Amino acid sequence: MSSNGFTFRPENVVWEITFACNMQCIHCGTSAGKRRPDELTTDEALNLVDELADLGCKSLTISGGEPLLRKDWRELAARAKEREITTYLITNGFAVSPAVADDFLRLGFKRIGVSIDGTEEVHNYIRQRPDSFAKCLRTIDIMHDKGVEYCVVTQVSNANLGELDAMYEMLLEHGCTGWRIQMTTTTGRMKDHANMVLSLDNYERLIDKLIELKKRGKMLIDVGENIGYYGCKGSDLFDGMPYFGCYAGLRVAGIESNGDVKGCLSMPEQFVEGNIRDSSFTEIWNKPNGFAYNRQFTKETASGACHDCRYLPLCRGGCATTSVSQSGCRADNPFCMYQIELKNGIEPIDSENTLNLLRRFNPEALKESKAG
Ligand code: SF4
Ligand code: SF4
Repeated sequence: MSSNGFTFRPENVVWEITFACNMQCIHCGTSAGKRRPDELTTDEALNLVDELADLGCKSLTISGGEPLLRKDWRELAARAKEREITTYLITNGFAVSPAVADDFLRLGFKRIGVSIDGTEEVHNYIRQRPDSFAKCLRTIDIMHDKGVEYCVVTQVSNANLGELDAMYEMLLEHGCTGWRIQMTTTTGRMKDHANMVLSLDNYERLIDKLIELKKRGKMLIDVGENIGYYGCKGSDLFDGMPYFGCYAGLRVAGIESNGDVKGCLSMPEQFVEGNIRDSSFTEIWNKPNGFAYNRQFTKETASGACHDCRYLPLCRGGCATTSVSQSGCRADNPFCMYQIELKNGIEPIDSENTLNLLRRFNPEALKESKAG
C-alpha cells in the first residue's frame, strides 16, 4: 500500500504465455518468433495463476507470441476459470479452427481479440505472411458462427492509417461488433521501422478518424490507452471522461513467458522488476521501491511539456511505454493531443468532471487559466 492509502493490486494481468509465433509482424512490440528456451513449465505456470488469484487478480489476458502455440494453454485457462479470474485471449487468428472456438466457449473466455491490421495486401505485408489475412477472416467468421465473444484488434501505423474506412466496412460485413484500435510505438521490431510510427500530423488524422468512427455508432470502437489524453479532441475521444494515466505497477502487471515481471507487458526490458524463479510474484509485486516510475511518480519524474502541464496530476504523462519509446523519459510524451492543440493555438475545453478533478488535484493551474 502507498503512503496515500492507494492499494497496489495486480487486478489486470497480461501474460505472454509463450514467445513463439507463427508470424513475423513488422510492428511486433516484442520481436516474438522462437519460443524462449527457459519458458515456464506447466506446473510453474499453474502455480502462478494460483498466486495471482490469491493477490486479487480479476482479469487475465493470455497473450504471446501466439498463445495458441503453447500446448497447455487450455490447462492454464481452465485453472484461471476455476480460480474465478475473468480471462481474455489475444490471437493472430492463424490457428483458430471450429474446435478451438468450442474450447474458447468451454473455457469461458470473456472475449477473444483477433489481430487484423488492414485489408488483404496491407495486412499480409505487416504480418509478413501471404496467407494470414484469409485465415484471420475465416477466424472471425468461425467466432461469429459459434457465438464466441470477440473483437478485432488493430495496431495503427503510417502503413495502415489509410485503411481504417475500408476495414470498418469489411468488419461490419463480417458481423464484427467491437474494434480495439491502438497506436504502434517504436518498440520491438518497430525499432527497425521507426519511419512507420505515426507522424504527429498522421496522429491527429487518426484521432479525427476515431472520433468519426465512434459517431457512426454501428460498432463499439475501443480506443487504446496510448491515444489522446486531454485537449479538445482528446476529451471528445473519451466523451468528456477524464483520463487517469498509466496503471502499470499500480493495478496492472505484465508477465513474460520466462517469468520476468514488469508493470506492463509492452514496457521495454529495463522495466523488468524481477523473475518469479528468483522470488515469488508476490515478493516482486510488494518489493519496496518496486515499479517506482509509477508508484513514486512526482512532478520531477516528468520532463518536457509534461513537467508543467496542468493535467499532470491526472494524466502522469499518458502511456509510459509510448513516452519512454519516443522520448526516453517516463513522462515526456510527444503523442499528447493537448500539447498538439496548444501549439496550434487551441485552448482546452474541459468537461465538468475534469474541472472538478483539477480543482482537487491542481487548483493552481485553474487560477492561471480562464477555464476555472
Ligand atoms: S502534456 Fe503530458 S501530462 Fe499533460 S496531458 Fe499531455 S501527456 Fe498528459
Ligand atoms: S504502459 Fe501504456 S499500455 Fe501499459 S499499462 Fe501503461 S498506459 Fe497501458
